[in-house]
Amino acid sequence: MIRIDHRRFPPAGAVDVVVIGAGHAGLAMSRCLAERSIDHVVLERGEIANSWRRERWDSLKLLTPNWQSRLPGYAYKGPDPDGYMSMREVIEFIDGYAKFVDAPVRPHTTVTSVVADGAGYRVSTDRGDWRCRAVVLASGAHGIPAVPAAAAALPKSIATLTPKTYRNPSRLDDGGVLVVGASATGLQLADEIQRSGRRVILAVGEHIRMPRVYRGLDIQWWLDAVGILDERYDEVDDIVRARRVPSPQLVGTPERATLDLNALSERGVELVGRLVGVTDGKAQFSGSLRNHCAMADLKLARLLDRLDRWAEEHDPGRELGPPERFAATRLDAAPRLSVDLARERISTVLFATGFRPDFSWLHVPVFDHKGRLRHDGGIVAPGLYVLGLNFMRRRKSSFIHGAEDDARELSAHLAAGLRAGNGGGMPLCAAL
Ligand SMILES: Cc1cc2nc3c(=O)[nH]c(=O)nc-3n(C[C@H](O)[C@H](O)[C@H](O)COP(=O)(O)OP(=O)(O)OC[C@H]3O[C@@H](n4cnc5c(N)ncnc54)[C@H](O)[C@@H]3O)c2cc1C
Repeated sequence: MIRIDHRRFPPAGAVDVVVIGAGHAGLAMSRCLAERSIDHVVLERGEIANSWRRERWDSLKLLTPNWQSRLPGYAYKGPDPDGYMSMREVIEFIDGYAKFVDAPVRPHTTVTSVVADGAGYRVSTDRGDWRCRAVVLASGAHGIPAVPAAAAALPKSIATLTPKTYRNPSRLDDGGVLVVGASATGLQLADEIQRSGRRVILAVGEHIRMPRVYRGLDIQWWLDAVGILDERYDEVDDIVRARRVPSPQLVGTPERATLDLNALSERGVELVGRLVGVTDGKAQFSGSLRNHCAMADLKLARLLDRLDRWAEEHDPGRELGPPERFAATRLDAAPRLSVDLARERISTVLFATGFRPDFSWLHVPVFDHKGRLRHDGGIVAPGLYVLGLNFMRRRKSSFIHGAEDDARELSAHLAAGLRAGNGGGMPLCAAL
């Protein structure tokens, strides 16, 4: 835990830049601002790496391998580059980074409001107000679990959980569990709960299927090498759609096992379609399961074709393993369209249906009609920036290793804005 020198960091006042959030993204930005000698503070409602300390389930491990965990000027140096960090290790990694960059973090300082104020912003907190010329929103992409409207119709007797409130199977009520959502989180939780001896039904919508290891190397190695993680927001055809693509079905385990729907159904998890409603205590599922699985199989095949084409070109000596293809997703002949929750003793519904950021304290007109933050690759408004959102500037933007390029580019834009005396705001290309 970092000790605060209150003479160096007064509780509130005036500063050039306020960074909101001391996760890895806010700290990466702090490092980039410090490199440019820009006066700033990092306001954090809890402690450094708060989300990893308070909002993750007990067994979670990163799905990105250790070698991929890198931040500006800092990288994993431990003995297991191909392993996957536990939550304790992630917290140590981010804590270590905060110490390494000597970040001016103000912990236990909750931002309650940000408003435009003259040429800059006023950032109000539960410990006083800050006036600044620029604000960086690094408060995380996963502030609020996105729970479908159908949840409201669940009987009161059913416990509802999200990845933020789930900790481990021993804390669940007796009975079976309906897990809604089959991306990384939903698959990992369905697997853990089923292995604990409970009955699990998994409601499956759109999902991205990936093997953990392909041709002998971690799939993240391939995505990195081929350049897929570096694809930019202004290069893809439909960025709105690209930002909604769910996380890949991956898990980090010592065995580097692939976790997909076939593995789960072999272990006894029942697969059903998307949860579309709840009527009279019966959960209703769409008939789209087969289509969603066929689409995921097709996209996996296309991805592997792309990786193989890259390998042809870059591995002429054939050092990589041979191309592989994986069995299509196996489904029951007639997956069920409805489950009577009480009759089947389902006591818990766990919504692993994604997240959205919480900017409820941002009182600046920068939201679209759906309440989403409008931004151009992280530039929100003059002197206002955001970090860490899905596919914000690159496909890797919301990952730990994605913060470096984004923070470097946005800090360059911010610095140019400060120099120009307008708190940022010029088109990005003019500043870089
Ligand atoms: C379940 C899960 C698994 C993930 N797995 C991986 C993985 O394997 N590999 C990977 O690279 N990435 C992974 N990610 C994605 C990403 O790395 C994390 O979401 C990461 O926490 C985002 O970092 P961040 O710094 O943008 O936000 P956060 O780490 O969420 O940091 C934001 C900080 O802002 C603070 N804050 C929020 N609101 C306020 C406020 N009003 N005032 C003051 N402070 C505030 C919070 O307390 C928090 O400390 C995962 C995410 C989730 C949810």
